[in-house]
Amino acid sequence: MTTAVAAPFRFFALHVVRTRQLGPSLVRVTFGGEELREFHSNGCDQSLSLFIPAEGRTEPVVPIELGDGWWQAWRELPDDVRAVMRSYTLRALRRDPDEIDIDFVLHGVDPGAPTPAGPASRWAARAAAGDRVLLLGPAIADNRAIRFRPTDDADLVLIWGDETAVPAASAIIESLPAGTRARVWLEVQHAADIQDLMTEADAEITWFVRDQRADEGTEGSPMALGALRDAQLPPTERPYVWIAGESGCVKQLRRHFVGERGIDRRSVTFVGYWRQGMTEEQLRAAE
Ligand SMILES: Cc1cc2nc3c(=O)[nH]c(=O)nc-3n(C[C@H](O)[C@H](O)[C@H](O)COP(=O)(O)OP(=O)(O)OC[C@H]3O[C@@H](n4cnc5c(N)ncnc54)[C@H](O)[C@@H]3O)c2cc1C
Repeated sequence: MTTAVAAPFRFFALHVVRTRQLGPSLVRVTFGGEELREFHSNGCDQSLSLFIPAEGRTEPVVPIELGDGWWQAWRELPDDVRAVMRSYTLRALRRDPDEIDIDFVLHGVDPGAPTPAGPASRWAARAAAGDRVLLLGPAIADNRAIRFRPTDDADLVLIWGDETAVPAASAIIESLPAGTRARVWLEVQHAADIQDLMTEADAEITWFVRDQRADEGTEGSPMALGALRDAQLPPTERPYVWIAGESGCVKQLRRHFVGERGIDRRSVTFVGYWRQGMTEEQLRAAE
């Protein structure tokens, strides 16, 4: 007897339904498409691989007809043909009609920005209804691209994220059940990027705003580190920590929680979402 096992991830052909500016550096893009019927996710920090058209093209080219061979064939496509792959987070999934939201940080799009925008930031800044993308996403709700995994007996949830992780942190916070104690530190570029978050949890959320700094992006050190060092956390025996954002900042905060606070490293989930000075291709190559 053989048991059929459903593939956890697959490609979805989607189009932009609408966009909404959430703040000076955050835009929400809502995607639709018939194939979303097969998209299933438990949310939280569900990560997705988004394929946008190469510069000057209107369709993302990925040889998905090759099945498992798509990756090698995609990598071998000429630069001006190959769709650009970038990692993003599912912010929301709705039914009737089937829609998903992804919140994009618009970095480097202002004239004279110290680091010019990458292709995804540029694409999001110009996105309009009808634009086509491909998404490699989950067909099974509980999948390994959800990394937020507190143990059942965790008695305190600690969260840090920069603006790239605000979508993931927001979805996580909204999913926390009543009675969960959470302390959250989020960093954004401008005061107007701060989002209203709804949760049933006992969550204390502190926002840090970087716009007094001359540079763009998370430069060097997380703003929250000083506050965290001074913070008196509620008494806890089994804390769970989730940290995501600029890699250097993530590293420093992990050191703080594990090294300075003595939290068991197995209870710390940490993910570098981007690295100052490196494109996502360069990051993948370095890893
Ligand atoms: C699992 C995962 C989930 C993610 N979820 C989200 C999400 O929901 N929303 C989101 O906006 N991002 C998210 N990111 C981060 C996003 O993938 C990166 O920011 C990505 O580099 C953007 O691609 P790009 O084409 O705009 O820039 P790239 O071409 O990759 O980079 C161009 C230059 O811009 C710099 N750069 C990249 N991102 C930023 C930034 N935010 N601020 C300042 N400079 C930057 C790079 O260091 C590089 O120098 C996620 C990343 C991962 C790994």
